[in-house]
Amino acid sequence: MNTQNEIHQESDGARTVERPVAFVTGGSRGIGAAVVRELARRGYRVCFTYLSNAQAAAELVLEFDETKVLAIKADARDSDAISAAVTQCLAHFGGLDVLVNNAGVKKDRGVTALSADDWRYVLGANLDSSFYSCKSVIPHFIEQRRGAIVNIASVAGMIGVPGQTNYCASKAGLIGLTRALAAECASRGVRVNAVAPGYIVTDMTQSLGERRLDAAADSIPMRRLGTPDEVARTVAFLASDDASYITGQVLVVDGGLIS
Ligand code: NAP
Repeated sequence: MNTQNEIHQESDGARTVERPVAFVTGGSRGIGAAVVRELARRGYRVCFTYLSNAQAAAELVLEFDETKVLAIKADARDSDAISAAVTQCLAHFGGLDVLVNNAGVKKDRGVTALSADDWRYVLGANLDSSFYSCKSVIPHFIEQRRGAIVNIASVAGMIGVPGQTNYCASKAGLIGLTRALAAECASRGVRVNAVAPGYIVTDMTQSLGERRLDAAADSIPMRRLGTPDEVARTVAFLASDDASYITGQVLVVDGGLIS
């Protein structure tokens, strides 16, 4: 499969791509899988990575077909693996227009119990990973003078959450990366934004247990957790030309939690 994108010049100078290609890290489950589905549904061809859940990745591809969705096993913490996956995506689909940095983990501990390994594990998966994938796609985006990056941050990167120093630091760092890269690349047609979800129903939040999730829902003005689809639609908006004059922003999707 190697169909070059057709680019159309609009009257306002914006350029639209007929069959855009997106690269999504951590697409096998949760928010990442919802982003893959939403973008594919909107006509994107999507390449996504996963770490260990090959079966979930294969099942997601089966919902579409390999001409539309491609899964690649690649550890987001490994810069060489990410660079190779981006190269494979470009070869398979013949282009790349959107990067969604979604892969992420948490390892919650009070700071006295937090080991250096726990710190590095979360910073590596949530922040280093995004630097690696941005670095891999930016030369291509700059060359074509077009591209959109959406980083999945968290409200935890905007407020302090006890027991999450590593996670909060990683997500605050990702917001800093978003703003700096947006400023650096804006004049070259590349937009960089972040989505900051609150509590979303995924495996990551299920590990908190029912009692804490009920308490979380009570603290949210909308009185419920969000769905992966609600985050995915926000990602799709920021990736699209509907957001053509938006860069360096953090869009909060949290039912009013930190308002
Ligand atoms: P999830 O259900 O635990 O899914 C995590 C996904 O990331 C899986 O597809 C997993 O792949 C992949 N992944 C993890 N580490 C990876 C690595 N090193 N390399 C490649 N892929 C990796 O998590 P989620 O709730 O959907 O979270 C997705 C993103 O949203 C994360 O960045 C998270 O911090 C952020 N977020 C979530 C919430 C929430 O309430 N859920 C709130 C705010 C922000 P495998 O399936 O192969 O393990």
